[in-house]
This record gives sequence, C-alpha cells and structure tokens, in this order.
Amino acid sequence: MISIHEALDAVIGAVRPLPAEEVPLLEALGRATAAAIVSPEAVPSFDNSAMDGFAVRGAELVAGRREFRVVVDIPAGSWVTDELGAGEAARIMTGAPLPPGVDTVVQVEHTGQHGETLVVMESPEPGANVRRAAEDIAVGDVLFPRGARLGPAEIGLLASVSCERVAVARRPRVAILATGSELRLPGQPLGPGQIRNSNSFTAYGQVLAAGGEPVLLGIARDDLDETRRLLAEALEHDVVITSGGVSVGEYDFVKQVQDELGVRRRFWGVATKPGKPLAFGTRGDTLVFGVPGNPVAAMVSFEMYVRPALLALQGRSDLHRPYVFAAAEEPVRRSRDRTEARRCRLLHRGRGWGFTTTGPQGSGILRSMAMADGLAFVPPGYPGAEAGAELLVMMLEGSAAERPPFPGGPAAPAVAP
Ligand code: AMP
Ligand code: MG
Repeated sequence: MISIHEALDAVIGAVRPLPAEEVPLLEALGRATAAAIVSPEAVPSFDNSAMDGFAVRGAELVAGRREFRVVVDIPAGSWVTDELGAGEAARIMTGAPLPPGVDTVVQVEHTGQHGETLVVMESPEPGANVRRAAEDIAVGDVLFPRGARLGPAEIGLLASVSCERVAVARRPRVAILATGSELRLPGQPLGPGQIRNSNSFTAYGQVLAAGGEPVLLGIARDDLDETRRLLAEALEHDVVITSGGVSVGEYDFVKQVQDELGVRRRFWGVATKPGKPLAFGTRGDTLVFGVPGNPVAAMVSFEMYVRPALLALQGRSDLHRPYVFAAAEEPVRRSRDRTEARRCRLLHRGRGWGFTTTGPQGSGILRSMAMADGLAFVPPGYPGAEAGAELLVMMLEGSAAERPPFPGGPAAPAVAP
C-alpha cells in the first residue's frame, strides 16, 4: 500500500493535458486557459469621467478659480473635439470622455449653479475623478497565465477587451462503468440479493462538476468476457472509471482485465479508509481508475484522485479543494494503520471552523456522504482525542464556506475587538 501523497503524485504525474480548442467566450466559463492571454485592447480606451460632475482645468482650481462657465454637455457615448478654454467647464456624466483641455472632474455634489455660472464649493485635487486611458489594462498586458480558471469575472474581463473566442483545453471524456452481477438500475425489479447501481450516478455528477463529459457505459456483470468487452470500449476515452471488482474477491475481474487489455498498473492499494483497493493505471494517455465498489469509497476515491486528474487534464493549475483546520465537536475516534477520511459537516465557529461527523462511517453508507460537506482527515495511528481536537478538513462542493456564518443577511458580522 502506498500513501495518499504517493498515489496523488502518481496520478498527476501520469496526466498529459488535453489539446486546446477554441471556443466562444461564453462556452469558456468554468474552463482553463490553454495559453496566456494578452490583451488586444486598453481599458479604459480613453480618458473618462469617474463621476457625474463638471470637467475643468485642474491648474485653474489650484490657482483659486471657483467660478466657471458651462459651455458643453457630455453624456456617455458622445465625443467632444473642441478644446475647452480658460474659465470653461463641461457638464460630464460618468464614463463620458473628457474633452481636450481639461483634466479634472468636480463631482456634482460639490458644486452649485447660479444661472450660467458653475460654482465649485469643494475643490478636488488636480486630476481627480478621471479614469485615465489604459490605467486598468494596457494593450499587451498579460491578463491570465496558462491554466487559469475562467469564472464570471474572468469572462467579463475578456469581454471588456473584446476577446470573442478563447483557447481552452478540451473537456476530458470520461467513461463510467459499474461492475457487479448484483446491480440493477433504478426502476428495474430487484431479484433476491440484488441492489441498485448508485455508483454510475454519483460518478456522473462528479465528472460533470469537475468539467468532464461523462459517458455512461452501464453495468458489466462479474463475467470475464463482458468485463473485457465493456472495458475495451471504455479505454477509447480520455479517462476510465470502473467501480467495484478491484478487491481480492473471487469475482473481482477488473485488474485482470486491465492487464489483458494493456493497462500499465501504476499502483493498487492506498493506505486510506475508505478507498483502499483503488487500482490506477494508464494505457497510452488514457487514465484508468478502478475505484472500489462501496458507494462512499467510490466517491471519496473520486474526490481524492480522479477530480484532481480531470482538472489537470484541462490544464488547470489549481487542482485541489480548499482545506481548513476545524475543531471536532465530539470526541474523535482512533484510527489504525490508514488515513481515514471521515464524512462531516462544517460549522462556522467564531472566526474558525468546527465539524461534526454525519453518522455511521461504513464505506457503503451513502446517506452520510449526502449529508456531508467535508472530509475530515485522521492520520494513521491517531490515538483518538477529546472534542476540540483539530483536524484538516477538505471542503466539498456546497460546503459551509458557501453559507453565511450568520443567519440571513448580507452584512458582515461584527468582529470582536
Ligand atoms: P466490490 O468492490 O465489487 O466487491 O463491491 C463492494 C460493495 O459495493 C458490494 O457490496 C457491492 O454490492 C457494492 N457495489 C458495487 N458496485 C456498486 C454500484 N455501482 N452501486 C452501488 N453499490 C455497488
Ligand atoms: Mg463486485
């Protein structure tokens, strides 16, 4: 058995990022840049007003002038070419271009008007309230390095410099194959000893959430020929996830069939609970994950190894979930020789975090996974501890970090002095 770190290194080390494709800007949402992006335009592209107010010459304010003649009106989207002379002001709106000759905007709240005459009541510094051309972004600025995730702000930034298409890595196509003669789909009648296939469903969602394209290949019964046929089909994808059949049972055919089909084994067995019998290998550039059959073991294996691999395939530089230290709200049970990932729920506690486990931790108990938003890691050989002990917790999708730490409102909570 190898450690989590060794396993993760082996997985990430085997990843060859997928080739790039160019997609329309909106389709790049959630994906990663395949190359650094250099700005083709400046932002702002012209000097403009940051306020509704009056544009004047700053030097005249410095010299003590407080009265100006308003000679022109400049709404956003218009363009004035006539230079303003001494003692002249332009009424200007936020975002409207500054006319030649002036360099300072007095916000409207700091002015009064007597007939044609503008009176400045509070004089700003020269140059105030003006957004200079290219002060945010100059032509040629690097906006993002390669591997940056494009979220809403990034997509908006690209729109603001007129990027209509973006080079991103292709989405990995991920074959999902459940194994087990006992498995039936939801809705099918259950015979004696049969159970529902849930792994295909959890994997489908996990793949989608990690930016992959899930391809469901159904269920392989515990039969060598059927496993061969379906695994061969699965190997035509970028990533293969089989669940079940990788343990030491009489009918655990997955490893044997992987070998027969030319999958190069990188490891089998990680010192974790759940998830010990994980088998990982490669065939060409295809990553082949044989995750254990127990539903929680399958999901946890995905979180720990498959998800980072899918992100790495997409060229992402940030592969990991956030981790926080959190204090146990109940005594922590001892561990034995493996790192244990315990399903838990994170809680805001003061300025930090607490957690409670979500019930029985058996690796088949999917319900406690559904209730969890974190995985608390207990190192091997942990002697057990009282409530209050701190553990590292991996934040899962929809974690407490996404809920406000106080009931309801959007305002920040008061911080104790
Ligand atoms: P295995 O690793 O094949 O021995 O499976 C371990 C346990 O997980 C057994 O109880 C299986 O019935 C169960 N299991 C395997 N595959 C699935 C699946 N796709 N959905 C739900 N449970 C499964
Ligand atoms: Mg099985």
